[in-house]
Amino acid sequence: MTRIVYLNGDYLPEAEAKISIFDRGFLMADGVYEVTSVLDGKLIDFEGHAIRLARSLRELEIASPMPDDRILEMHRELVRLNDIDQGMIYLQITRGNPGDRSFMFPDAAVPSTIVAFTQNVPNLADAPAARTGFKVISIPDLRWDRVDIKTIQLLYPSMGKMLAKKAGCDDSWFVQDGAVTEGTSNNAYIVKGNRIITRHLSSDILHGITRAAVLRFAAEAQYVVEERAFTIAEAQDADEAFSTAASIFVMPVVEIDGKAVGSGKPGPVAGRLRDIYLEEMRKAAI
Ligand code: PLP
Repeated sequence: MTRIVYLNGDYLPEAEAKISIFDRGFLMADGVYEVTSVLDGKLIDFEGHAIRLARSLRELEIASPMPDDRILEMHRELVRLNDIDQGMIYLQITRGNPGDRSFMFPDAAVPSTIVAFTQNVPNLADAPAARTGFKVISIPDLRWDRVDIKTIQLLYPSMGKMLAKKAGCDDSWFVQDGAVTEGTSNNAYIVKGNRIITRHLSSDILHGITRAAVLRFAAEAQYVVEERAFTIAEAQDADEAFSTAASIFVMPVVEIDGKAVGSGKPGPVAGRLRDIYLEEMRKAAI
């Protein structure tokens, strides 16, 4: 089955979707994106992603190409056309094609480019990795200091994933001034007793949509949520660790820089939060 993608108002077979070489997304990484997961053919936390998308666009002064209700309609249409039961929808909006290369932003008459496509992941909820957990390494956080904007500048996170792979691991956690900021494409947590500790919100981390939901469910389940910085040493010494993102939900982290966290196996708190998250988000999916 040929994947049908969305480009500037049209639904097209993926091979027919073409973008100008002058698009500022291509030349300048001048764009933002969102990833929304799909379970049972429905969108998980679409509203959270739509709100963050609008904020990212505002921060970069990129014109929003369409209102939220039309973005929602387009997501649903992509799910339908591609018959997605479980997977993700990737959405990208760039500052468009000014017809040449220039560092200056084009004037407002240049329309944004909007692209979206589905990724079919039949075992997204029952991911084998969630049963074994991630092994992570720590690397310096060399990203710019506005990572709260979800831009398409993903070279360093991509290098972080490759460094992890070369080390026989699954992901990297970034460290800034001795403290963990977040994972390459996820937020990072540790568990100590009944306390869930994760970095406080600032421009040093992406304000994860999954993070917000997981912290809400954790508080409802009587865990104490501490939003503060923690070190790699504290994480290695914790009872458990985990990461969250729309594409992995709650993913146990079992090893950090070669040292087992807790039992070295996915822990009960991460497992419980994953179960609660999936159950609640499935109920609220649209
Ligand atoms: N942090 C970074 C750097 C990310 O790239 C992502 C997701 O791509 C996240 C955190 C998690 O965000 P969300 O839960 O909204 O997927």
